[in-house]
Amino acid sequence: ARRRLGETLPIVIGGRRIETGRWVDSVNPAWRGEIVARGAAATAEIATSAIDIARDAFPAWRDTPAGQRADLLRKVALILRRDKFALAALEVFETGKQWREADADIAEAIDFCHFCADEMQRLTRPHRRDIPGEDNEYFYEPRGVAVVIAPWNFPLAILCGMTAAALVAGNTVIMKPAEQSPAVSARLMDAFEEAGVPKGVVNYLPGIGEEVGPVLVKHPDTSLIAFTGSRAVGMLIARQAAELAEGQEQIKRVIAELGGKNAVIVDDDADLDEAVHGVVASAFGYSGQKCSACSRVIVLDSVYETFLSRLVESTRSLEIGPAENPGYYLGPVIDDEAQRRILAMIDRARRQSRLAYQADVSALASEGSYVPPTIFADVSPSASIAQEEVFGPVLAVIRAADLTDALRIANGTKYALTGGLFSRSPANIDRVRREFRVGNLYINRKITGALVDRQPFGGFKLSGVGSKAGGPDYLQQFLIPRVITENTLRRG
Ligand code: NAD
Repeated sequence: ARRRLGETLPIVIGGRRIETGRWVDSVNPAWRGEIVARGAAATAEIATSAIDIARDAFPAWRDTPAGQRADLLRKVALILRRDKFALAALEVFETGKQWREADADIAEAIDFCHFCADEMQRLTRPHRRDIPGEDNEYFYEPRGVAVVIAPWNFPLAILCGMTAAALVAGNTVIMKPAEQSPAVSARLMDAFEEAGVPKGVVNYLPGIGEEVGPVLVKHPDTSLIAFTGSRAVGMLIARQAAELAEGQEQIKRVIAELGGKNAVIVDDDADLDEAVHGVVASAFGYSGQKCSACSRVIVLDSVYETFLSRLVESTRSLEIGPAENPGYYLGPVIDDEAQRRILAMIDRARRQSRLAYQADVSALASEGSYVPPTIFADVSPSASIAQEEVFGPVLAVIRAADLTDALRIANGTKYALTGGLFSRSPANIDRVRREFRVGNLYINRKITGALVDRQPFGGFKLSGVGSKAGGPDYLQQFLIPRVITENTLRRG
């Protein structure tokens, strides 16, 4: 029998709490028997009424001074800061994230609130290009109803970042969290309410993506879709949003932050201790379930064997178990479906590539959704394990003849999200800076994710479309730029 830890979480639209009798369960990935909370599953009808409510709330929110909207976000940041330990604990249970990683997720959400508040105030400062007799005013206005669709792997930061940007820009928002993380996301809704965001301005719509997603994306009254998640869903949303619905009078803006097949290049003069440490952290931290995770390591021929054996040694020492015990380096993957999917990819890869290492997680497998950290060696750059995003603790080691070869392999996927280099040669570092084409490149340090404002985050090719999250042009995407030119000589 399953134990229930937490409460049921209603849908919140227009300040009203609604239950539907159907639930999306948040299950602790480390203990299948533990239901962390139950989120009410929205129906298509409820999704439609959420849009109506957000549309009706829009004019008043649009006309609220930007400074006031920014102040509300700063209040949200304070509430998240006050509750950060409780939030991180919930995240440990709900997503199996290690404590320090959960804490970083909360910190990033707080940073996003401050950043969006400051950015909005910067954008509302008058931007004029006047000449005698002619005024030119450049200004921004909100787009309308924004739909925010988020993944579970940074359940607070990603949802909060997209929502904060949409909101401070003056849009009203419908938040659709991932099925796997209704509990952490419900706390974000609580924070918006506690801060005093008016009813209907932010709405919380947990539910099944396939059921409510298309309703939100296709509705003529939604203006903007901010999506972070898988490539397949992102492409589907882009297609659906491009169709003109009956009565629709706008082209929808789609922001899509998608997956990666991120590579680290290890040069022949690299500090191998640093390289091994950096690759292990990036590949196996949170069981590889980060869009930024390293999933290919491309090693120059002369250091290949040494690097590989040190990599295996280091991976062997990782301790695996439930995230609530801070002694464990990595835990389970998000759920049984992910476990099955990743194990199937590992099975397929075993037929194509040499298995260099696989941990033994059999003692844990009956309790939770564990996948053993796995390393494949001598992987062909075209093998599926070197081309497809795994989103799990699986690393492909690829041999390169020289730096030219390494760069060709590194750039040889459909993705361009993160990448890394370990090298001590200034000429090679400069060359890789120019030729390794990814959204975020990390040199002689481990790959990490977004650092709001300092390391804005995002990719291109099939890794996404849009400005970098937490970057100087991020907020513009949520706004409509306008210009008014006036011949001032006619003013009386
Ligand atoms: P997912 O695409 O399965 O789900 C993301 C969201 O989309 C969920 O809320 C889901 O309910 C919803 N959804 C599902 N089907 C939908 C549909 N038909 N219409 C509308 N919405 C729908 O992704 P996931 O498993 O939650 O997250 C993992 C993926 O996210 C990985 O590919 C990862 O690389 C990517 N990711 C990217 C970034 C980035 O910044 N680039 C950050 C985190 C995660």
